[in-house]
Amino acid sequence: MDLSTAMRTDMCATLTAADIGRTVTLCGWVSRRREHGEHLAFIDLRDRTGLIQCVVPGNRDLRSEFVVQMTGTVRPRPEGTVNADLATGEVEVDVSQIEILAEAEPPPFPLDERSDVDETIRLRHRYVDLRRDRLQHNLRTRAAVNSAIRTAMEAEDFVEVETPMLIASTPEGARDFVVPSRKEPGSFYALPQSPQLFKQLCMVGGIDRYYQIARCLRDEDLRADRQFEFMQLDAEMSFVEQDDVFRVISKAVADATEAVTGERPLEFPRITWLEAQERFGSDKPDTRFGMELVELTPIFEGTEARVFQAACVKGIRMPGGVEALSRNQIDGLVETCQRWGAKGLAWMKVAAGESGPTLEAGVAKFLSAQEAGSVIEALEAEPGDMVFLVADERRMVRHVLGLLRLELGRPPVNEGGRNFLWVVDFPLFEALGDNGMPVPAHHPFTMPHPDDMEKLDAGGEALLDIRSQAYDLVLNGWELGSGSIRIHRPEIQARIFELLGIGTEEAQAKFGFLLDAFRFGAPPHGGFAFGIDRLTALLVGETNIREVIAFPKTQSGADPLTNAPSPIDQAHLDDLGLRVLPPAT
Ligand code: ASP
Repeated sequence: MDLSTAMRTDMCATLTAADIGRTVTLCGWVSRRREHGEHLAFIDLRDRTGLIQCVVPGNRDLRSEFVVQMTGTVRPRPEGTVNADLATGEVEVDVSQIEILAEAEPPPFPLDERSDVDETIRLRHRYVDLRRDRLQHNLRTRAAVNSAIRTAMEAEDFVEVETPMLIASTPEGARDFVVPSRKEPGSFYALPQSPQLFKQLCMVGGIDRYYQIARCLRDEDLRADRQFEFMQLDAEMSFVEQDDVFRVISKAVADATEAVTGERPLEFPRITWLEAQERFGSDKPDTRFGMELVELTPIFEGTEARVFQAACVKGIRMPGGVEALSRNQIDGLVETCQRWGAKGLAWMKVAAGESGPTLEAGVAKFLSAQEAGSVIEALEAEPGDMVFLVADERRMVRHVLGLLRLELGRPPVNEGGRNFLWVVDFPLFEALGDNGMPVPAHHPFTMPHPDDMEKLDAGGEALLDIRSQAYDLVLNGWELGSGSIRIHRPEIQARIFELLGIGTEEAQAKFGFLLDAFRFGAPPHGGFAFGIDRLTALLVGETNIREVIAFPKTQSGADPLTNAPSPIDQAHLDDLGLRVLPPAT
């Protein structure tokens, strides 16, 4: 690609031995300077492609991060000075002319990749931070992900539709960011938590296949994998069943993965939510490693051992755990499991007995010989393994052992391959709220599973067993995104609102426009959305999504660069009809 401009002939890191003898003009930043005697300096010149060594005569005052234009001749590096680690390591530029385009103060932190710089300082000077290889690489990867996704969606005839930012609320379960209206003081727009309602309106509008790389805003507590604003590939399709959505989304994700890693994920296996919970103790299982949860409840039916007299007993086996874990670490794990909500964590060591493996230490003395034998058999335990058992309510057992499994076995983010997984048949409701009303697991427009329709009348705890046509896409234990087949029939929607305790008036006030639209002929439809930030982070091996966002906020939601959020002046407040109260004490 020809990237020459009026000011330069070449990019720094594209020069190779084939350019020897050419006169080139380069532009960039002074990355590193090494003096060579009094009259010669080696300068590493950097642009977005990388570095090239320039040999500069005289003692021009060229300091770090000065912006310069250099003209000179490409020549081979002297024998013994070739740098195999650098793309341009065979050549250097013998500079004859230098122009300083802009001087620079010393950078606020070293730009090499080894220095560990405080994040607030990096974000305060993000424009300097962006010059680092890591961010250059991450942002280019992100652009490649977006581009591959667009190409994939367009190849499937999806139409890109832009939906508004100033809207009424979207029910994704987080708090809205709101924008005061000047024309109607006292009224507010919400910023979209997702384009959910608009994409459903697009389906009523006959768009048939919609997509958008959409900005979503949610006022939630931030963590390493969350920002107030984030990007999603958002899609919706008409006249489809789940499989149609899976096919299109799997392809877009596979294309993006292949575009940036060169490896195409071939399999997107499926697991039901229930199976995921039973085997991995999670609705987003990391299937890169085993250590699955094994059902032990029948073994302990009628047991004498008090610790195992519970509704559910499950166990996991840590191969070689006896060697790997110290007594202190085991005690730490017990405490951690209690913090996660378990009454306790039963552990035992597997030793070599005369006639096969036996259990010892920990709670081993409470088990009958038959129970011990059955546990060993069920867990396929070998001498040297540690086994961990939790006995409690079923949900608690899964939850705690699921977390313990990750704690003991989860590989680092960029090891163990890429295991994509569709988790299907999510429950329709996630819990019963304090008022006894069920809380939706996805949003309230999710279609119940066709086989569970009549259970909608069950009431109470039994509601929690109703499956929905909601699904998640998971990669190595990270939830990439969610979707569902939607309710398109007003009477089913009315029934769900009723169950959720959303009265007719409230439903009309909140989602009246969608319900109205459905009266005018809504096609069956379904869709999906997944996080671009998270996918990109996983593909480049970053655990923190801030590393793949050009201008992120800190964990407390502030932007040290622009100082947002910040107060606005009184006149502006008056215009909006707002009065700011002193902070509550
Ligand atoms: N709007 C949903 C979300 O942002 C995704 C979907 O159901 O399509 O999680």
